[in-house]
Amino acid sequence: MTLPGKIGFVSLGCPKNLVDSERILSQMRAEGYAISPSYADADLVVVNTCGFIDAAVEESLDAIGEAIDANGRVIVTGCLGNREAEIRAAHPQVLAVTGAHAYEAVMDAVHAHLPPPDDPFTNLVPAPGVQLTPRHYAYLKISEGCNHRCTFCIIPSLRGDLLSRPLGEVLSEAERLVESGVRELLVVSQDTSAYGLDLRYRTDIVNGRPLETRLEALARELGQLPAWTRLHYVYPYPSVDRLIPLMAEGLILPYLDVPLQHGSERILRLMKRPAATEKVLSRIRAWREICPDITLRSTFIVGFPGESEDDFDQLLEFIQEARLDRVGCFAYSPVEGAEANKLPDSVPEEVKQDRLARFMEIQAEISRDKLAGRVGQIMPVLIDEVQSDRIVARGPGDAPEIDGVVLIEGEWEDVAPGDFIEVSVTGYDEHDLYAEPV
Ligand code: SF4
Repeated sequence: MTLPGKIGFVSLGCPKNLVDSERILSQMRAEGYAISPSYADADLVVVNTCGFIDAAVEESLDAIGEAIDANGRVIVTGCLGNREAEIRAAHPQVLAVTGAHAYEAVMDAVHAHLPPPDDPFTNLVPAPGVQLTPRHYAYLKISEGCNHRCTFCIIPSLRGDLLSRPLGEVLSEAERLVESGVRELLVVSQDTSAYGLDLRYRTDIVNGRPLETRLEALARELGQLPAWTRLHYVYPYPSVDRLIPLMAEGLILPYLDVPLQHGSERILRLMKRPAATEKVLSRIRAWREICPDITLRSTFIVGFPGESEDDFDQLLEFIQEARLDRVGCFAYSPVEGAEANKLPDSVPEEVKQDRLARFMEIQAEISRDKLAGRVGQIMPVLIDEVQSDRIVARGPGDAPEIDGVVLIEGEWEDVAPGDFIEVSVTGYDEHDLYAEPV
């Protein structure tokens, strides 16, 4: 038996890219390659890049440069891989460049430069594949690409139109993850509520039952597993209303990550966003009536080309009315290749920064009020980390890496990451909650 080739791996960008990395790594492991923790020790390095905004492009090019300096043999994949000329201009010595979610092409490039070890005992896909997230939570990617054409975004040109994974495939991946110890599934895609649209919501037979390829059916099935299910990147289409009763019933977490981007209809039209402000507000009101505990997270952009002071005021009115729990806000920055770059009336940088600060000041107060409203509540939390003097956990309203945490002071025995415990919330600060076990 020959010694397995060693591959170094760097994963950049968003959770969706992380899922791609996990798939590529799983395939490498299945073929018998070893994954090297250091560049120097590796036979070659694969860099999975991000090309979403200019800062990500720069970070990706730097990571490629670093891998070339340390190892010399580098294969590039991921979103930035769709801009091969740019990569080759900066780093002519890269061995191969493949695009986003081109799993087979990456593996072909790996085979060409580092033939796989011929060992029948390693030719097994390890269940559940390689995870880059801690063992107790995992991202579950349900589709690729997007049918929208938001003018600030180049994802459809990088990743193509919506391509949903078959329901049975997603569910068996979820089952394998839960069997291997995952206690929280984070459903991700570019447009989660559109799941199944490209497949015309076809009915598949899954575990002997006919099930429609729709988010509602998927959520119901995931809700049967002994793990939390959290939905990300859900657009407020009417069909989303059908998910809220599942949250009220406790089947899936009462949490929705809904990227709304703006509160002015004029700016939303310039962004070519699929949403109208008034409808969104009434929809949010209806959701809260059905599921009062729902946590709503969103992201917004200020300083989009053409945004007037009046548009910005409408955005502030919107967030004051919507009273969302968790909010991210970004000052608009042009992305190379985006349609929005052709729009007139760009907003000066100092105006963008001023609007961002005003927005965040108002939202910080709303978020604080919302956290204050949780004091006295009893809720389950999932433990992320047990430290010497406290537990770091998350409640139903806290997605990993982007939201706050729940801190439980004291020295604890007999608990471990991935355990659920029940707590009573005793306090809060700007982002986090404090609690004690019930
Ligand atoms: S919905 Fe818009 S922002 Fe989201 S991936 Fe599709 S085009 Fe980009």
